[in-house]
Amino acid sequence: MQKASKRAFIRKVKRITALFAALAFVFAAMSCAHQNDRSAQATREVFAMDTYMNVACYGKNAEKAADAAVSEIKRIDALLSITSESGSIRNLNEKGSSNVGAETAGIIERALDIHNKTGGAFDITVLPLMELWGFTSGEYRVPEESELKAALDGIGSEKLSVSGDEVSLGGALGIDLGGIAKGYTSDRLIELFKEKGLTSACVSLGGNVQCLGTRSDGGAWRCGIVHPFHKDSGVYLGVIAVIDKAVITSGAYERNFTDENGVRYHHIIDPKTGYPAETGLASVTIVSESGILADALSTACYIMGLDGASAYWRNSAEQFDMILMTNDGRVYITDGIADSFTSDFEVRIINR
Ligand code: ADP
Ligand code: MG
Repeated sequence: MQKASKRAFIRKVKRITALFAALAFVFAAMSCAHQNDRSAQATREVFAMDTYMNVACYGKNAEKAADAAVSEIKRIDALLSITSESGSIRNLNEKGSSNVGAETAGIIERALDIHNKTGGAFDITVLPLMELWGFTSGEYRVPEESELKAALDGIGSEKLSVSGDEVSLGGALGIDLGGIAKGYTSDRLIELFKEKGLTSACVSLGGNVQCLGTRSDGGAWRCGIVHPFHKDSGVYLGVIAVIDKAVITSGAYERNFTDENGVRYHHIIDPKTGYPAETGLASVTIVSESGILADALSTACYIMGLDGASAYWRNSAEQFDMILMTNDGRVYITDGIADSFTSDFEVRIINR
């Protein structure tokens, strides 16, 4: 395919994927929409961070809050994108060290903390690997073993250092906050809604959902989890009822390509091998009060696999719950959400 038409094709695929993500969101917000005063409901759709994002605010100030949310999404996208000239990341990646400002430094510190806690599974220094596989440009290819080996020398969040607002890459070649940016953004939106006095709102950033409070009729938000094998047909793995929570999923089905032998390669990279993580999982959904934690852990737990993720959860079960689906079709949930998750599939419980 020519580059231009390839890009157009990628855009089209993204749009279709986003439509389904939006449908999943509508599903999440649906049960409140018909029970609420529609005049007090404000919704917005915005394309940012390479995906479609939806915002729904309820009650007094809903319109103002929804507008503010759109501005905030655009601001954070410009701040954290690896290509944005006005942002903090591109400059850092080009120069190797720079003053990124307090906000970005805080996000990087959080990423380093999660890197340490997940045994290195979550690693924002994967950028050179993302580039080699073509996930940053959309020009996908399977890198040579030797290219991956050479790139792995420059991978490792241990190389990074943060001192105040000053970040240094050390020997790392660049950082990519794609595994954490949307979760950070949804946290920020919820804070902003609270500042505006809202008590009921829900955002879906490319399928990553975060809710403030309850629906305005007082009920829990019902969030449909995309079935990784039927992502385009509206079949859900199940539905989770949540109040004040982020529900964030990582899956191989979200962004991938297939080579001439029919082998599929996806965008969640194991920083230890340089290859897309293949641990037998098809998707991981994290349910947590913290969007940033949920986003990072959905990526990390995917890489850790069922056993690794379960062990990790047992050590920090007060911070999050999860819904896992294996490639062979088994569904697992942690016991903290046993009463709030419903599914047509057989569900196995991971106990503490
Ligand atoms: P999505 O962005 O599609 O919702 P994820 O939250 O799982 O999916 O994040 C995947 C993104 O995270 C990749 O596109 C890349 O930017 C980044 N990434 C990939 N592998 C890792 C990793 N091991 N650690 C941290 N970030 C990663
Ligand atoms: Mg993530």
